[in-house]
Amino acid sequence: MAAVKNSLPRRQFDVVVVGAGGAGMRCSLQLAQAGLSVAVLSKVFPTRSHTVAAQGGIGASLGNMSEDNWYWHMYDTVKGSDWLGDQDAIEFMCREAPNAVYELEHFGMPFDRNPNGTIYQRPFGGHTSNFGEKPVQRACAAADRTGHALLHTLYQRNVAARTQFFVEWMALDLLRNEAGDVLGVTALEMETGDIYVLEAKTTVLATGGAGRIWAASTNAFINTGDGLGMAARAGLPLQDMEFWQFHPTGVAGAGVLITEGVRGEGGILLNKDGERFMERYAPTLKDLAPRDFVSRSMDQEIKEGRGCGDGSHVVLKLDHLGAETINKRLPSIREIAIRFANVDPIKEPIPVVPTIHYQMGGIPANYNGQVVTTKDGQTKVVNGLYAIGECAAVSVHGANRLGTNSLLDLVVFGRAAGNHIVASHPERQHSHQPIPESSIDYSLDRVNKLESRTSGEKVQDVGNAIRVSMQHHCGVFRTMKLLNEGVDQIEELAKRVDNIAYQDKSKVFNTARVEALELTNMIEVARATTKSAANRKESRGAQALSDYPERDDVNWLKHTLWYSEGSRLDYKPVQLKPLTVETFPPKARTF
Ligand SMILES: Cc1cc2nc3c(=O)[nH]c(=O)nc-3n(C[C@H](O)[C@H](O)[C@H](O)COP(=O)(O)OP(=O)(O)OC[C@H]3O[C@@H](n4cnc5c(N)ncnc54)[C@H](O)[C@@H]3O)c2cc1C
Repeated sequence: MAAVKNSLPRRQFDVVVVGAGGAGMRCSLQLAQAGLSVAVLSKVFPTRSHTVAAQGGIGASLGNMSEDNWYWHMYDTVKGSDWLGDQDAIEFMCREAPNAVYELEHFGMPFDRNPNGTIYQRPFGGHTSNFGEKPVQRACAAADRTGHALLHTLYQRNVAARTQFFVEWMALDLLRNEAGDVLGVTALEMETGDIYVLEAKTTVLATGGAGRIWAASTNAFINTGDGLGMAARAGLPLQDMEFWQFHPTGVAGAGVLITEGVRGEGGILLNKDGERFMERYAPTLKDLAPRDFVSRSMDQEIKEGRGCGDGSHVVLKLDHLGAETINKRLPSIREIAIRFANVDPIKEPIPVVPTIHYQMGGIPANYNGQVVTTKDGQTKVVNGLYAIGECAAVSVHGANRLGTNSLLDLVVFGRAAGNHIVASHPERQHSHQPIPESSIDYSLDRVNKLESRTSGEKVQDVGNAIRVSMQHHCGVFRTMKLLNEGVDQIEELAKRVDNIAYQDKSKVFNTARVEALELTNMIEVARATTKSAANRKESRGAQALSDYPERDDVNWLKHTLWYSEGSRLDYKPVQLKPLTVETFPPKARTF
């Protein structure tokens, strides 16, 4: 057996970046330009990463269309996070935002323009001027295809910088030594079915979100939380996994996203009586209140019998914007509505329902992108490992993310991590450290077990059961009873994941093998989510508990840390102190 393992093909790089979304490619660009050898792995062609689907915009206080500054952006982000965001990281992100966007502009990103040539900006949920006074125009947009423009720009820049892409490669496990330093990954080349050892002085996880653990999701099929599974199996914690964002406007029955940019352009939500109900829930920001707030209001309308059609959804009206604005600013939305809801929004409203969209939690990292663990109240950096983008919890989004702050997070922290790796690289310029065989064996054994099993449960069946369970137990409104049932169900399903099998054992492009491996990651995310949620006895941001309807800053102003082994929980304090400005102390969150 050992002989077989030693024969695994090996490659060496300064840096391996797992993920070619906005975060991975912004980071790799920084590294390749600095002359490091960098390999970027992706399960799909880079420009098919989920970032490509981002519609509405990227947030930055450019102040092109209404007065704005980074300090207001910071306040909105802290408040949006329901005070669970770390204020040092939030200050860092909001201060950097204008530079990060101008840099994209100089890279050639095709933003929409104002008549005077500056970048077009639209209002977005929770973004205000003067500390909550009124909506501000902060979302820099390329029509309703901002992510598409961003991802293609970054890809082209990376090609120019000679980044090496490993397309249709799936990273399997982190490789670590006794001291816990990360030394690279094992990875599956899908085309051949071969497994490689990729040795790296630094490994960056940029694997995106895991929204596919829910039945109704705006996420791409590849969003299966692989980086989170890899971290969890390596004994690293996952942070704040109870906080998942429901986007208010997924197309009812289809899940496909209708951007908040529609409401930014003036679209409004109506119930069956034709009432603009958000005026009741959020008198100041109305339809542009943050997402957790709007989703709960919609759910309430539906539960109280004011849903439209069969009562299961509300509608998003935008015909009053006129055909010209819709065709110019929201062309993809019109197409999505026609295709997936069978309505032309120039004439009719779109049926919408809150749909799972984004994970606020993830792999704990600081604002340089370094992965951190916490022991006995002490924070410790994991040598050789970074996490950026949606798979990371920096934590700038806390308990609820504001729209446009994710694309921003990708480029700000992708760039910061790249810079930090470059700056600290000389220290790590030694030759590659030896990788313990046991670390490689662990990963190979996982794959071999799956490969050798000839009978067991179908991947699809167990996957569907996880999705149905998550949908039922971890919804917009949660109860302790539902959550505790969810914990038990998901732990039972974890046992079933240990017994999955597939019949097709062929090597070349075996998607059954890939899906089985993805399921082993999804289950870790589902376990982390249910367990973390069932233990947080308060309502904050996206966690709305009927049993504990109030936010409890005395007991719960802290981050959850979940460990896979024994499904153990730990907690660590929120960083309330910003870098240079005064703390925004917690206060009631009204809009
Ligand atoms: C429909 C939609 C619209 C959105 N609109 C906006 C918006 O307007 N503004 C905003 O700020 N945010 C928006 N968001 C959120 C934002 O787009 C995402 O949070 C963000 O794009 C995630 O980027 P990422 O780089 O972290 O990961 P992704 O773009 O998801 O990329 C993940 C990468 O990791 C790779 N990968 C994963 N697992 C493995 C593995 N095991 N091995 C190798 N590679 C792997 C994938 O192939 C992919 O390349 C939207 C999200 C969705 C779903």
